[in-house]
Amino acid sequence: MTTAAGPRPYNFSAGPAAMPEAVLQRAAAEMLDWNGSGMGVMEMSHRGKEFGAICAQAEADLRELLAVPSQFHILFMQGGGLGENAIVPMNLSRGGRADFVVTGSWSIKSHKEARRYCEAAVVASNAEDGHTRLPDPAGWKLSADASYVHVCTNETINGIEFQQLPDLAALGSKAPLVIDFSSHVASRPVDWSRVGLAFGGAQKNLGPAGLTIVIVRDDLLGHALEICPSAFNYKTVADNGSMYNTPPTWGIYVAGLTFQWLKAQTEGALTGVAAIQARNVAKAKLLYDFIDGSDFYLNKVDPGCRSRMNVPFFLADEARNEAFLAGARAAGLLQLKGHKSVGGMRASIYNAMPLAGVQALVGYMREFERSRA
Ligand SMILES: *Cc1c(COP(=O)(O)O)cnc(C)c1O
Repeated sequence: MTTAAGPRPYNFSAGPAAMPEAVLQRAAAEMLDWNGSGMGVMEMSHRGKEFGAICAQAEADLRELLAVPSQFHILFMQGGGLGENAIVPMNLSRGGRADFVVTGSWSIKSHKEARRYCEAAVVASNAEDGHTRLPDPAGWKLSADASYVHVCTNETINGIEFQQLPDLAALGSKAPLVIDFSSHVASRPVDWSRVGLAFGGAQKNLGPAGLTIVIVRDDLLGHALEICPSAFNYKTVADNGSMYNTPPTWGIYVAGLTFQWLKAQTEGALTGVAAIQARNVAKAKLLYDFIDGSDFYLNKVDPGCRSRMNVPFFLADEARNEAFLAGARAAGLLQLKGHKSVGGMRASIYNAMPLAGVQALVGYMREFERSRA
């Protein structure tokens, strides 16, 4: 696809982030008239049959894509990941204790927010390692009576990712695992046998900002604190099919288009999330291998837990950062500046980033290094 200025650039934003072009084009084509209804999706009643069909299809497609078992509810909510940092303890903590594994910027925020609603304990932390390696689950000091255990499975800012979900039962905890999968949702399969609740904002890997996905096991509904707003009570939301109040209709529709795009992806014999996972592995390997093979660039994260989605990296000579970014923009490679708390660069290579985009980035990095040598 091209823009007025030429070919569409590759966009490495951490979020809101690049969308599959086919999804943007379909949304554009249907903007004024969805499916012969004479209405755009934004203009429809959420209680009408047209939006009802859109919402039911999106939910069914997400359930199929992520192989979500029937005892889990899929909820379409608002409030984002940070909203869930309060909504989860209000629904799950019963005012008691909750355990937090602190691995980077996002889990730090989750722990701080939860302290308003429950006794929030830090049971493991990688702060001493500068958030560059994951604390070994064997050393987590899990409480006997925790109402849940919170883990951020992909730390977007620090670029570290759990390659396997922790098995809390094997670690001696009976508590349900809560995962913040905002920045790698649908980039890999989820082992639901280890999860009680998963939440994530849509704007990294699924669609526009404003939609929050919550996938929650049946037995965790119905325990909300008295102070929990009704619109954020998971049981109320589930009982009303995510339509207790007006859901983010546009976000659900666009995420639904993304689910259809994901289902149609193939990689060899693989389809859907398995196909996108294989592509994500190849994209991440290309970029990390290049960085590791160069003295000009570096990534400080333990190779065992490097994120496939968010790749922070540094120039050995930080005085060249501005030149690197300006050259990247000129080469059609956008939003590579690192998060202010980490510095350097960050390439977010979510599902919508094609391999060709990572190849273009590596080509630019190689050429930048060669021209400064
Ligand atoms: C982006 C992000 C959030 C914050 O989401 P908001 O929608 O801004 O509230 C939370 N957790 C993780 C892991 C994220 O990447």
